[in-house]
Amino acid sequence: MSATATRLLDNYVGGQWTPATAASEALDVTNPATGEVLARVPLSGRADLDAAVTAAREALPAWRAVSTIGRARKLFELRERLVGRREDLARAVTTEMGKTIDDARAEVARMIEMVEAACAIPTTMQGRILEDVSRNIDAETIRQPVGVCAAIVPFNFPAMVPFWFLPFAIGCGNTFILKPSEQVPLTQQIAFEELDALGLPPGVVNLVNGGRDVVDGILDHPGIDAVSFVGSAPVAKLVYERAAKAGKRVQALGGAKNHMVVMPDAVIEQTVNGIVGSAFGAAGQRCMAGSVVVTVGEAHERLLPALREATEALSVGDGLDAATSVGPVVSCAARDRITEWIDRGIADGGTVVVDGRDAGAALNPGGAFVGPTILDDVAPDAAIVQEEVFGPVLTIVKADSLDDAIAMVNRSRFGNGTSIFTESGAAVRRYRHEVEAGMIGVNIGVAAPVAFFPFSGWKDSFLGDLHAHGPDAVEFYTRKKTVTSRYFSSGQGHGSYFVES
Ligand code: NAD
Repeated sequence: MSATATRLLDNYVGGQWTPATAASEALDVTNPATGEVLARVPLSGRADLDAAVTAAREALPAWRAVSTIGRARKLFELRERLVGRREDLARAVTTEMGKTIDDARAEVARMIEMVEAACAIPTTMQGRILEDVSRNIDAETIRQPVGVCAAIVPFNFPAMVPFWFLPFAIGCGNTFILKPSEQVPLTQQIAFEELDALGLPPGVVNLVNGGRDVVDGILDHPGIDAVSFVGSAPVAKLVYERAAKAGKRVQALGGAKNHMVVMPDAVIEQTVNGIVGSAFGAAGQRCMAGSVVVTVGEAHERLLPALREATEALSVGDGLDAATSVGPVVSCAARDRITEWIDRGIADGGTVVVDGRDAGAALNPGGAFVGPTILDDVAPDAAIVQEEVFGPVLTIVKADSLDDAIAMVNRSRFGNGTSIFTESGAAVRRYRHEVEAGMIGVNIGVAAPVAFFPFSGWKDSFLGDLHAHGPDAVEFYTRKKTVTSRYFSSGQGHGSYFVES
């Protein structure tokens, strides 16, 4: 193991790369395809977070003094810098998280798209004005930054998810603290090298590595005004409640269980492509991964042979290998948890169509591999159909009708995304209208909205009212201030403010 391979990562605080001085311990960051230790990440302590909050608060006046257009120009520059590093970013994503290099490149493209959307801040942050709300009296609402904003993010999109927040937050004039996932902290080290090169006022962006201590500190800290969270449903609930109790603005995006409904008239070849990409892309570790197929009527017999064939054709391996279609899951602990879920699904009556439990046998023994797995004819109320597995495991349930399928989807406590595969506009109209999920794909397997639209999960998949990115980001990262005004020397005369004359 080389010296650089075991480097202990720094935090980035007040415009400087800074060691975590209050860390309780450091964890290995590993490549899940090989088990190789890539670096060590400190679990920072409260004093490390305090330093970041102090820097972020001190930076607020200087950053707010930069014009809106000046802030947007910094985002344009950031965009160019990230484009210049996109291959480094993609390789970091694959190396620390496991997804295939093509998938990582797509993630980095979406990360950059977030910056592009935030470049529109001089337009999207505009307020509104109404002249003559009474005679010669005007009312206007302006938007101002919220203050110090923090984001706590998951392992599955090391590049993109932090950028659901960072560019919009700073574009609106806030300062920002990021706590990356301790499982995948390396990608954001590269992003912060580029942020550092922008020459922002020190403290505008800060990076604090760590785990639960840093999260608890963020939730309670009186110096933090707004918190964004993305991760599993139980932690989302905890974050939402605790941050709200401390009086903060909060949005908490949680786990998911996404259904893909296949109607009898679906175009099978493209439907299979969509399902396979959704269920097994990123080894099923996307919050928009479809993990339950609901076949309606004869769709089952039309779909199953082609789905089996396409799944068996997938090759499992190191995501850096161009021939790989499914990389490892994030860790050996995740692999073991997913394998137990497959055992349980079979014990609960699922019929094995494709079994990925031994996929790692012929691969690197240090790797965290689970192959694509399909269980057919699973009871709709089985735990594997209701709970999030977060791995390459697809269950198939049968429905008699579209009504039946909609009822199954709506029974889930989650409501992130769902897809319908059909050529029937009438079926789509009903599905879109009645289904209780916030992001809908029509003949699209992963209906993750582009940066210019909100990431609009429902039910246990989202706690809060303002979603990530799109127009919601500007709502979340600004406070409205409404001014009512008149001037006596204008020579225009005045009515009463309350009684129109
Ligand atoms: P996770 O909940 O384990 O961790 C998320 C973050 O919370 C990490 O930064 C982690 O350090 C911190 N954390 C973990 N446990 C904590 C605790 N007990 N107290 C305080 N902080 C804690 O999630 P993960 O495994 O990193 O990510 C996968 C999950 O994220 C899946 O459930 C997936 O569906 C979800 N996810 C949701 C979305 C969405 O948009 N809804 C997007 C991506 C991922």
